[in-house]
Amino acid sequence: MNNLTQFTAGITILEVTYVIASVFFILGLKMLSHPLSARRGNILAAFGMGLAIIATIIFHRKDGEPIKNIPLILAAIAVGTIIGWVIAKKVKMTAMPQLVSFFNGMGGAAAALISMMEFPHVDPELIEKSGMANGEVLAILLGLLIGTVSWAGSMIAYGKLDGWIGDLRIKSMKWVNLAILATLIGLIAFVMTRDVQSTKELTHFIYIIFSIAIVYGVLFVMPIGGADMPVVISLLNSFTGVAAAMGGFLYNNQAMLTGGILVGSAGTILTVLMCKAMNRSLLNVIVGVFGGGGESNIAAGGSIKEISLSDSAVLLSYSKKVVIVPGYGLAVAQAQHICHELDELLEEKGVEVKYAIHPVAGRMPGHMNVLLAEADVPYEKLIESDEINPDLPGTDVLVVIGANDVVNPAAEDDPSSPIYGMPIIKARDAKNIIVMKRGMGKGYAAIENLLFFNDKTRMLFGDAKNTLQNLVKEVKSL
Ligand code: NDP
Repeated sequence: MNNLTQFTAGITILEVTYVIASVFFILGLKMLSHPLSARRGNILAAFGMGLAIIATIIFHRKDGEPIKNIPLILAAIAVGTIIGWVIAKKVKMTAMPQLVSFFNGMGGAAAALISMMEFPHVDPELIEKSGMANGEVLAILLGLLIGTVSWAGSMIAYGKLDGWIGDLRIKSMKWVNLAILATLIGLIAFVMTRDVQSTKELTHFIYIIFSIAIVYGVLFVMPIGGADMPVVISLLNSFTGVAAAMGGFLYNNQAMLTGGILVGSAGTILTVLMCKAMNRSLLNVIVGVFGGGGESNIAAGGSIKEISLSDSAVLLSYSKKVVIVPGYGLAVAQAQHICHELDELLEEKGVEVKYAIHPVAGRMPGHMNVLLAEADVPYEKLIESDEINPDLPGTDVLVVIGANDVVNPAAEDDPSSPIYGMPIIKARDAKNIIVMKRGMGKGYAAIENLLFFNDKTRMLFGDAKNTLQNLVKEVKSL
């Protein structure tokens, strides 16, 4: 043992702390998988990260020297913490997906910056021994490529979710993107096979790869919209994890490696699940191919029929089975608490009430689960769409609250629709359908919904919160 930072057999306090931090990450991630434990899981994982950062500042040694510039590092942490804290406190629940995309992009940018900083400093002795084709150079180049794509793609996703970037759809986009991807891989192979004394001679290639990766990140997310957006968001999330893991390899930092691998693998699993839920191919999403032909051929037809609050209250109160389909509008209206009040009121009257949860309802994976958990709706009442669909023909009333795309029959009927092929909640199978929304506004995919013109459908117009508040009053008065 040569100093305080060293245990026996070369294991340092820093390494032990990283292992402890990794355990916190794993426990945190496990707890995130259930709404009831998710908040604690988040705190636990954040604690692990705090521990890893503090331990690195105190115990990290390079050539026996401690970390320099500690005041600068602490100032950067303070600025980042304040900005992150204020944004997270102020953000509206409905703007959360944009925020998640933005933060994810920052992770990708950090990984790319690490690569750009470290490339010129690869140990010349290492290059002399194994040439450029060594693990360190590969980790740097992959970290740069994946981190940059994640950053650029996440920024475009952020703009799309916030509504100021539209979809750019060109038929040959797939081939353009494939060509760019092949160029990037070719450039990495080219750099790694150079015969040089020092990476400094090749630094300009780093900027070329960085620039082309930005173009790829932008172009592959630009055409994605509607039903494919959630898939791309989880894919970008996994990219950031993998890019961070490259940094972990580079610095031989176990906490960074474990954290990156956890984010990367969780993101990949989510991407695969999302692809399955949306009936999309992962390869198509990676090269920016969008679902359907882009524009729906179905035009609004027939007439819409409205229903009054009192008629809705009677219909619901004298039903046996009611299914509620929550969507993005429920989150916008912040009507989750009053929605739960209505469901409890109906259950007191002997009505069985369940919620049909579509995997991409809202604007982020699990959005409806989080929203309804906030209002203490019991978890057992939330039924996945493929599980509840067979029960819908026996459902007396299906109440759509601020949902649109996830109940749109165009996904089954119209091969030219951008949401074609996406599994939906088969709302039209129910005996009666009540749709609560403010007007005839379209959903995220910006297409017409013929469910609203169905013979069994009655529209209950208004802001979801106001409508539900008035409906609760009506049901109470019966
Ligand atoms: P949609 O976006 O399809 O529809 C929401 C509907 O809510 C609108 O038609 C709007 O109609 C209505 N609405 C808005 N505000 C209110 C309000 N205050 N009160 C009542 N109604 C309101 O939502 P869905 O949940 O059905 O579908 C989600 C869509 O988002 C899918 O296309 C999905 O692919 C996409 N997406 C999902 C992500 C995810 O991870 N979950 C991420 C990115 C995109 P009106 O204006 O007439 O009131």
